Amino acid sequence: MNTSLYIVATPIGNLGDMSSRALEALSHVDVILAEDTRVSSKLLNHFDIHTKLERCDDNVIAAKTPELIERMKGGEVFAFVSDAGTPGISDPGTHLVDKAREANLKIEAIPGPSAVIQALVLSGLGIDTFYFAGFPPRKKQAQIELFSALKYYAAALVFYESPYRVQETLENLAEVFPSRTAVLAREITKLHEEVLRMPLFELAKELKSRESIKGEIVLVVDAPRNEDGTVKNALEMMQELTQSLSPLASLSSEEFIKQKLAEGMKKSQIAKEVSRTFDINRDEAYTMVVGINL
Ligand code: SAM
Repeated sequence: MNTSLYIVATPIGNLGDMSSRALEALSHVDVILAEDTRVSSKLLNHFDIHTKLERCDDNVIAAKTPELIERMKGGEVFAFVSDAGTPGISDPGTHLVDKAREANLKIEAIPGPSAVIQALVLSGLGIDTFYFAGFPPRKKQAQIELFSALKYYAAALVFYESPYRVQETLENLAEVFPSRTAVLAREITKLHEEVLRMPLFELAKELKSRESIKGEIVLVVDAPRNEDGTVKNALEMMQELTQSLSPLASLSSEEFIKQKLAEGMKKSQIAKEVSRTFDINRDEAYTMVVGINL
């Protein structure tokens, strides 16, 4: 069975990252379907590829897909490219793959860069498990709700964000995960590549101190960790979630400590619970506990 559709990843900045398989597919297909033909024609010109281009952005893809599937069945071979990176990852492409699969056509994905993966690699954080959240919602309330739900995931979190909204998004992230380490990876593979790594509240401050921030940005929030630095597992996070849903969770940290002292719990144990429930470090929590008298 011959391939009808190639999903081709393209560079996210450095043209040297174009793979030889990508070049071969783009040179030999009948038509390249592009998210934006102007963006892709620059890339193709650079590599001296003159294959016919057809526009296939999010606005036209659904309407155009039945015709494309018929053409594939008739023997035409297509490649799909988005503006940069891997199609289907916060980019168009998925709908076409879905329908081509339903029609039992052969699809090949030609691997290449994707900003989510490159940012995780650059972060140096524990990336055995991660949750890719794409672009967060724009409104503050919606962001806080999303981040609060993700707080209990035993995984690093990855977000794409625009430079115009990143400051606000970091402030909202810092509200939910003040002490988690975060990474801002900017302009990956480009001339002005920059990677900042620090606790979220500091990262929000660092950005605020800058006049502006430009370029393409990925944010990585570290997975929740135990005191010894190991990443917490799903079961531990489930227990924390259950605890946070208990009536005690609606108390302030001071009320929480008073209640636990009244129950006769040991101060070190209270500090451990305060640290976990209110996401503050254990030493700070212990100082709070010993500072409160009934
Ligand atoms: N499909 C692409 C991929 O595989 O990475 C993502 C497309 S999405 C529309 C564009 C977003 O990806 C940008 O807003 C930014 O968050 C991220 N991004 C793309 N290129 C990047 C780069 N060179 N450095 C940092 N982030 C990048």
